[in-house]
Amino acid sequence: MIIAVDGPTASGKGTIAKAIAEHFELPYLDTGLLYRAVGYQTVADGGDPDSPEDALAACDFRSDLLRSSALRSEEVGGYASRVSSHPGVRQALYERQRAFAEQPCGAVLDGRDIGTVIAPEADVKLFITASVQERAKRRWMEMQGREIDIPLADIERDIAARDSRDINRADAPLRAAPDALVIDTTALDKEQAIQTAIEAVRQALR
Ligand code: C5P
Repeated sequence: MIIAVDGPTASGKGTIAKAIAEHFELPYLDTGLLYRAVGYQTVADGGDPDSPEDALAACDFRSDLLRSSALRSEEVGGYASRVSSHPGVRQALYERQRAFAEQPCGAVLDGRDIGTVIAPEADVKLFITASVQERAKRRWMEMQGREIDIPLADIERDIAARDSRDINRADAPLRAAPDALVIDTTALDKEQAIQTAIEAVRQALR
């Protein structure tokens, strides 16, 4: 059984995908981490995330980089968004994601193009969304919790820029698959969002 969870940045898709994986006892892959690793490695090698050649050269990053907390920063999220627009990078990361999706025990993957490109045959496809303002507020609160002081307006601007890059790129743009169930979490708290998603998966599997 493959469950695809897509959506824009800070929509809650990661939290939801993890909870679904736990509930249905399936392995989970956060595919954004792969793009983050490429973005991080590109810059660490002195390259430019906007250069397809530099980004492609960084796709053979060491696997232990995926465990690094350095990948979680806003800055690296921005590099990830830039390297992810290069078709060569998406191709290089494709096999890795396919192999994870094809495990006999099933899998949950979250990202931007799981239901449309990586696993169009997924048994259940969710598209998690929320307003830009709400997503910026959540990111701001999370950062306050980590004692990182960035103005809310800056976060909102950054999220809008990332949305625009993800939606408008030519290769595998962010969009809901025609058969995806769209869940808007703007007015839901974390627990409500998780329960809504688990219930949607249950219904879809009936
Ligand atoms: O989800 P996360 O914020 O970690 O993803 C970082 C960036 O990686 C996204 O802004 C997006 O541009 C890119 N990405 C992608 N396809 C995926 C997952 C992430 O293009 N499946």
